[in-house]
Amino acid sequence: MSLSKLSATLLLGMSGWAFAAAAQAEPLHLTILHYNDMDRMEAENGRGGFAKLMAVLKDEVSRGDRTVLLTHGGDAISPSLLSGFDHGAHIIDLINETPTAIFVPGNHEFDFGPEVAKQRLSEAKFPVVASNVLENGRIIEGAVETYTMDVGDITLGFIGLTTPDTVHLASADGVEFAPVLETTARLAEKLRKDGADLVIALAHVDIGDDMDLIRQGAVDVILAGHDHNLMTFYDGKTAFVESSSQANYVTALDLTIEQVDDEIVWSPAFRTLDTAAYEPDPEMAAKVQQYLDRLSAELDIEIGKTETALDSRRATVRGGEAAIGNLIADAIREGRCRYRDHQWRWHPCGPRICARHRPDPSRHPVGAALRQQDREA
Ligand SMILES: [Zn+2]
Repeated sequence: MSLSKLSATLLLGMSGWAFAAAAQAEPLHLTILHYNDMDRMEAENGRGGFAKLMAVLKDEVSRGDRTVLLTHGGDAISPSLLSGFDHGAHIIDLINETPTAIFVPGNHEFDFGPEVAKQRLSEAKFPVVASNVLENGRIIEGAVETYTMDVGDITLGFIGLTTPDTVHLASADGVEFAPVLETTARLAEKLRKDGADLVIALAHVDIGDDMDLIRQGAVDVILAGHDHNLMTFYDGKTAFVESSSQANYVTALDLTIEQVDDEIVWSPAFRTLDTAAYEPDPEMAAKVQQYLDRLSAELDIEIGKTETALDSRRATVRGGEAAIGNLIADAIREGRCRYRDHQWRWHPCGPRICARHRPDPSRHPVGAALRQQDREA
């Protein structure tokens, strides 16, 4: 199946190939291919990147005996090198090339501020669910509070959760992140009342919140991100998946779902797919290469001439003062915060630290020390 045909099929109506398999199979066999935390577009050390991700997807779809859904657990538009030039537009474009069924924003989606986050979400051709991300009391523009999807006779209800730590980790001025457990309890109940047979949380939250969600038991499946763990878990009630990062590994969650009398009965099985074992999809590889070429062009510019050798060999930079180290230190001193037009401030304990992006003192002892210095200054 060609890349464009695969994308078009999904975009035109939530996977025609999926319904074909579902209609013939009873019970329903649903494979969720989950990936998360992917700002790198190319493979590294033979793993990951969009071309390998697409190869995994096509391989799963080619089996033809199941519904396949590709899901993204958040953190995409930053902090790659190219995102410094285009604020992550290339990553949204690449995700648009995959038939990603649903996406939750991660904290990195707010690295460039809420306006950029909303712009990127508006460019997405895939559904974005952000159940606890609010601006002016409403779900952030470009996302929905919940999302439902019919696969054969089964209705899937999705919740999207973004870590409340985003207010400390990114630049989300004016955006609120509602509490994870309360939001989940309320919306899971609503989704079930509205007919969802299975409730699935896309959870870009830390591992502690993941465990709390499992203990809470309000959702059936958790598709996680943020911690970069390669991890699957099932306690007889809740199935949990997180797939490392960068699509180095993609987890296939195979769900068997059937109606027994009036009840929906389901069971999970897990497969960890090592993308090192897949040949990159050529069409996607070509698309990625275009962006790599653009990055190279952005970086291959003359910024000046040096008459001093810039020796960055380990023995030099670790053995004493080095010209390259001085150059980088001077650049940091002259630089500004990448996120916003924020001012830098000098602290004697290290390089300049943006006044708006200092560590939160309640979470980091270093932050508390900095605040104390502020008071003393
Ligand atoms: Zn994250």
